Order: sequence, then C-alpha cells, then structure tokens
Amino acid sequence: MSLSLNPRILKLLTLMSAALLAWTLAALPLHTESPAPNARKALVVWGGWEGHEPKQCVDIFAPWLERQGFEVDISNSLDSYLDTEKLKQLDLIVQVFTMAQITREQEQGLLEAVKSGVGLAGWHGGLADSFRNNTEYQFMVGGQWVAHPGGIIDYEVNITDHEDPITRGLTDFKMHSEQYYLHVDPLNEVLATMTFSGRHAPWIDGVVMPVVWKKMYGKGRVFYTSLGHVAKDFDVPQAREIVQRGMLWAAHALEDR
Ligand SMILES: [Zn+2]
Repeated sequence: MSLSLNPRILKLLTLMSAALLAWTLAALPLHTESPAPNARKALVVWGGWEGHEPKQCVDIFAPWLERQGFEVDISNSLDSYLDTEKLKQLDLIVQVFTMAQITREQEQGLLEAVKSGVGLAGWHGGLADSFRNNTEYQFMVGGQWVAHPGGIIDYEVNITDHEDPITRGLTDFKMHSEQYYLHVDPLNEVLATMTFSGRHAPWIDGVVMPVVWKKMYGKGRVFYTSLGHVAKDFDVPQAREIVQRGMLWAAHALEDR
C-alpha cells in the first residue's frame, strides 16, 4: 500500500511547518555585531581647540578600544557628563578636550563618576589643559600644562618604570613635538620622564619632567601622558602603545592581557 496524502492536506501541512519555522526563528536571539552584554563600556568625549586634532586622535583610539571588546560611545559635548548615574555604569572615560569651559554641573558629574571608580584616561592638552579655571578637575588629573618652551622641538622620552604594565618592555624613544612643562601632583606614580634643555628657557636647564603618570582619584584610576600634540605623534609606536595600555589600565582591563 502506497502512502498518499490528499494534496489539500499536504498544502496545509507545508503552511503549518513554514509558520512553525518562522515562529522558531523569531524566538531565537538575532546575531548582531553589538558587543557582548558584559562588554566593558567606554565614553570618549572630544572637542575644544582644533589644533590638537581631537577628532583625528579619537579616530585612532576609539576603534582600537572597540577591537579590544569595549562598547564605545563617542560624544562631542560635555553635556555627556550631566547624567552621573549613567556615567557610573562606565568602565572608562577618555577625554580629548583642550582649552574649553566646563559648567559646574558637567564638572560635578565627571568628578563624581571618577571618584566612584570609573577610570579616566587622556593625553596632552585634552586632559591636562582642558579647564583652566577648575582646580578640583586639575586635582583629579594630577597636573596642569603651563608651557611648551620652543614649540615643536626634538626631545627624548625616558622610561623610568620598567616593571609597570603600562611601560613594561618599552625602550626610550624620540619625539619631534611639543615638550610639555607641567605643574604636577606629587601623588602621581611617574612611569616616564623627559629632561628639558636650557635652550628655550635657560632657567629650566636640566629639569626632569613627568611625561607619563598614573594615579587615583577616589576609587577611580587616572592615566595621563603629555604626548600627543597632533594625531601624527601617535605614529611613534611607543607613544601609541603607552596610550593604549594606559586606557586599559584605567579601565581595569590591562590585567586581562
Ligand atoms: Zn599641543
């Protein structure tokens, strides 16, 4: 006896299985490119003086953070600091914002978030020459730019801490850029220095200046390097590596490497 089905029943069965398949697919989570739910979260805030090429620098480091598994939000406004509760959910804030004004409310949001444990990382004027009127902000960063004698000059960066994960394995290197003279916090854990010549300001001849440091602000880790006047400075592999590792350290992610 051969098995034969009424064509109408066969059609009904086909429709039912198609509907079942569609329902099953809809119930399944869709595969998307978004990071895993437990991905570390970073906020990159850029703006301020255009001469520091904030956008070009963000375009180097934000995609890199994404490749490390971070979910990265990029903002061009300090208003991103207003939602303190949202900020506190982050692992890392990267600020690239030179010579600007910050409102009391914006500053308060940032300070509170870092104090609660969110990491903060930045370079050059984007972190240490941002808000010249805001001393509590400077207290958090651990330094404030005051001069770059001679403008764009040649200098050498000396790695002074060869054990720290941010500078481990790196050798001294040369830069052709601004050499930042900063007022610095004795609390900073200095990882690299540079020495000023007296060529452009004779009275500072031989001054040894921190160029990479890390510190705490409350429970938050703060990383800073004065390198990175323009995006091209990060063509120097050590300069780029120091920022990358510094961001990871601030986000408690360097230990995972
Ligand atoms: Zn500069």
